[in-house]
Amino acid sequence: MPTRRKMAAGNWKMNGLAEALSELDTLDATLPRPRCDVLLCPPATLLSSMAALAKGTAIKLGGQDCHWQEKGAHTGDISAEMLADAGAVAVIVGHSERRADHGEDDATVRAKAEAAHRAGLTAIICVGETGDDRDAGRTLDVVGAQLDGSIPDNADAAGTIIAYEPVWAIGTGRTPTLGDIEEVHRFIRARLTDRFGDAFGDAVRLLYGGSVKAGNAAEIFEIADVDGGLVGGASLKASDFKGIVDAAS
Ligand code: PEP
Repeated sequence: MPTRRKMAAGNWKMNGLAEALSELDTLDATLPRPRCDVLLCPPATLLSSMAALAKGTAIKLGGQDCHWQEKGAHTGDISAEMLADAGAVAVIVGHSERRADHGEDDATVRAKAEAAHRAGLTAIICVGETGDDRDAGRTLDVVGAQLDGSIPDNADAAGTIIAYEPVWAIGTGRTPTLGDIEEVHRFIRARLTDRFGDAFGDAVRLLYGGSVKAGNAAEIFEIADVDGGLVGGASLKASDFKGIVDAAS
């Protein structure tokens, strides 16, 4: 039986001014010893100050995106090394909002995942179908192609997490059926096992993302092949996110 530790990961997106730091304190106070990994991905502007506050707690920090190069003339971008320097242990790459807003394709996402690995960060690689894809019965084809194109050939299971996030479920309050989540997660693990081998397939963690809340997290996290969640809106308030961490514990 694989023993994968569950993870509750929060993606704050473009939310959070300095006052949001109190959410970290509140969360820490309510989570003395969570039995899952807890990761918060705040805007890059808050990483350093949150890293200082999170020192010695169970809460780890991640970035929301990185450039594929280490440094150079890329105005406005942040490298994986800079995230690590600011206290991150992971970075989300290929979020559907980056794919849509910034035209990122699978090759770009793969380069960013390689950069994350180069900097010693865990790459949380996002995949997921649009509503049109699902309606047209293309979900597994789309997710399969994203996996093939976005994961580096030399990825290791410890440094790689896949987040399955149906685009139509993000921020909408709608989720796939539990059966649909199970089907896609089973498919993802099988695809990764085919490409990287049994040990990788058994060990790699797969998160579900898309309108996870305290009220539905437990039933989603019980699904075979779901190793936790990547959570947007419900990660912004410590009181909401705590319910999700509890469900993953
Ligand atoms: C996300 O954007 O990663 C996400 C899952 O958002 P939400 O939980 O708000 O649907």
